[in-house]
Parts: sequence; C-alpha cells; structure tokens
Amino acid sequence: MIVAIDGPAGSGKGTVTEAISKKFDLINIGSGSAYRAVALKTIKENIEINEVEKIVSLLDNLDIEFGMKDNKDIIYLDGEDVSQRIREKDVSSIVSQVSSIKEVRFKLTDIFRKCANGKDVIMEGRDIGSYVFPNAEVKIYLDASVEERAKRRFLQNQEKGIQMSFEEIVKNIEMRDKNDKEKEIGALKQTEDAIYIDTTNMSIDEVIEEISKIIEGRIRN
Ligand code: C5P
Repeated sequence: MIVAIDGPAGSGKGTVTEAISKKFDLINIGSGSAYRAVALKTIKENIEINEVEKIVSLLDNLDIEFGMKDNKDIIYLDGEDVSQRIREKDVSSIVSQVSSIKEVRFKLTDIFRKCANGKDVIMEGRDIGSYVFPNAEVKIYLDASVEERAKRRFLQNQEKGIQMSFEEIVKNIEMRDKNDKEKEIGALKQTEDAIYIDTTNMSIDEVIEEISKIIEGRIRN
C-alpha cells in the first residue's frame, strides 16, 4: 500500500506522516528531506543557486539514505545524520529553487520509487499523489492558512533551536508556496482523487484520527 500525503509547507505533513507510519507500520520516505539534503550539499560545495550545471553534477555521486534512530526518522547525507541541519535557514531559503531543477526531480523521484518498490510506504511531499505515485491507494491533501502554518513552523523551530523570526517564516512560506505551485514538473497541486483536509483549526491528533479512518477504510475494502 502507498499512502501519499501532499500539501504546502507547514500544513502538518511531517508530524502527521511520522505518527501514521508508526501506527500502521509503514515505511516513511520524507521527500522534502531529500530535496533539503540536495540543497545542503549545494551549500557545502559552495555552489551558487544559479550554477545549475554544477548542482546537476552533484547528482552523480548523491549519497542519501533514510533511517531510524531513537524511534525518529532520520536522513543521512554522505553517511552523516543531517536531519537537524537540513531544517536551518540557509537550506530553507534555497530548497525550493534547488527542487525546481528538473534533473534533481527526476533523480530523486527515481530514488523514491526504488525505495518504495514492493513495500508498504507513506510519503509526504508536494507531488507524491500527482507525479511520484499517481496510483497510490490513499491520497491526502493537507492544507492550512499561511498564518497558522507560519505559527506552527515558528514553534517547531523554537523547539529545535533554529533562529528565524515569525516575519521571516511567513516570507519564506509565501515564497516557497509560489515556487512550489509554479514548478514545471512536480508542482504542488491537489489531484481530483485526493481527500482535502483543512487543518487550520484542527489539532495534530484530530488530523491523525481522520487520516487513520481513511486508511482503515481502504484496508477493509
Ligand atoms: O516539506 P519540506 O518543507 O521539508 O520541503 C522542502 C522543499 O522541498 C519544499 O519547499 C519544496 O520546494 C521541495 N519539495 C518538492 N517536492 C516534494 C517535497 C518537497 O519540491 N515532493
């Protein structure tokens, strides 16, 4: 079974997906984390965001792995746990441009499909139901107002010790929403067969409950 959870930044995808993956024993492949890892690699190699050819050349030796530590999903880049590092401001500010490069999308989509092959998987992102797994058994589109999404990201950053003002977060979210919706390939959009959930006035537990019911319904049928 493949469960696809799509939606904009801060819509609650990450938290909800992690909880659902444990509840239903599904492998969690974080597509946003993978795009962030490529953005981090770009920064580490001192490549500018407009040097597209150089970014594309990083893909030949891209070493990304998904794992689990202390019951938390983690991502390794070149063997190093970068799960925290990829949430920093410098990565957030270039990731949607990096993820707009079509070669990057083809390469990562290929990695995601290989990771999921023959397994029960939950994946969150922007284009999982529309492009990566158009035949997913369950497709959810999570949404929330920009204000609410920025508030959530602000609190999350505080917990993780990431320094970003509320205004900076609002700007970053608006910029990423625009970039993500206008992408040539893999743009953020709700497919006709996806179930829309507006989480603005819902708690995480309520969202988890609603998605659980949908998955249970699909399992029964
Ligand atoms: O979900 P998260 O905010 O970590 O994703 C970071 C960025 O990666 C997004 O802003 C988007 O540009 C990109 N992304 C994407 N396609 C996906 C998942 C994420 O383009 N499936």
